[in-house]
Amino acid sequence: MKLNRIQQEEVLSFAQQLIRVPGTSGNEGQVAPLVNQKMRELGYDQVQIDPYGSVIGVIKGSRPGPTLLFDGHMDVVPIREPEQWSCDPYGAVVVDGKLMGRGSADMKGSLAAMICAASYIDRAAFAGTIIVSASVAEELMPGRALEKILDTFTADAVVIGEPTDLRLGFTEKGRCTIAMNARGRVAHSSRPELGENAIYYAVNAIDRIKAAPLHSDSALGSEVIELVEIRSSPSPGNGTVPDQCWGLWECRLLPGESEQALLARLANCQKDAKWQDKISFTIETIDIACYTGKHLVGKDFLPGWKGDENSGIYRQMQAAIEKSGIPLIHWPIPYGCNALASCGLRGLPTVIFGPGNVECAHKPNEYLEVRDLWKATEVFGLAMELNGVYA
Ligand SMILES: [Zn+2]
Repeated sequence: MKLNRIQQEEVLSFAQQLIRVPGTSGNEGQVAPLVNQKMRELGYDQVQIDPYGSVIGVIKGSRPGPTLLFDGHMDVVPIREPEQWSCDPYGAVVVDGKLMGRGSADMKGSLAAMICAASYIDRAAFAGTIIVSASVAEELMPGRALEKILDTFTADAVVIGEPTDLRLGFTEKGRCTIAMNARGRVAHSSRPELGENAIYYAVNAIDRIKAAPLHSDSALGSEVIELVEIRSSPSPGNGTVPDQCWGLWECRLLPGESEQALLARLANCQKDAKWQDKISFTIETIDIACYTGKHLVGKDFLPGWKGDENSGIYRQMQAAIEKSGIPLIHWPIPYGCNALASCGLRGLPTVIFGPGNVECAHKPNEYLEVRDLWKATEVFGLAMELNGVYA
């Protein structure tokens, strides 16, 4: 599949339209109607908005075959440094072949490419069903909106369109947020020996966790277990030895790590310490209010995954990339995304592929090379046309 001039213009102009409507996580209410309308204009067989606000479009081929789901998120991160932008972050201007703006690379360009590609393929020629989902709230909580979509729509394989700079993402670190609680006993600060200072317990526990060896993997490198926040109580603590200290650990975990194993590792670091029974670890819960009023709630633990090179979707995407004429480069994904739900939680064969470089995402002057946007549209279309061939 090769895009003609009119299709190139359509993909670019739809990406621009999406960028011009800001929508952070939970505020995609202006973006969703654009997607809904575009899918209808493009002749999707079925388009619906789910209770959480994700838009799902379905196109059926001419004969039976597998269902392939393409997913891209509609939400973007907020603008933090407006003065550092050389253009309007929501202007979506094209400068020197680059589409500028928040969400150009992550990932409204890719979303436009997937939505358009599904309507450019020859319906008479492909097998099975193509689903394109424009999901909500990925930036705050990867995976949860896609899980809800997969509860309703059964898919045999999934392509996540996150920016990979047109490389094929085949493995991804998992993520988890863990709250650490240290419990002590209050006392007047002039007589600390009468209490138990929870901060000291926490500091010692932190030292032990930092001293423990980290796991590593040949593709993904080292796992990450990083303390990002600490608080104590009472606060202000004038005159009082604190009886509570709370810390937050963010983890990027390798495939194979489970909730129970991680909690056991952290607890094990405290073994034989005198504060051992004063420290507890729990996995955090995230609750996001969607623009529809519904809430996405879930434990913040999503396991990492490693794709199977012999799976149909893996060979299908490789063939599409080769046919499109771009080099086939495999890439271990350094960030967390919706694939953590489709593959990490559910074990569905998943690959990640999209235009744009993640290094410019979430930053001032985010951009997407327009030629990569068009190339990605062609790869998505080629993969859709090959649906069922590599099952
Ligand atoms: Zn993204």
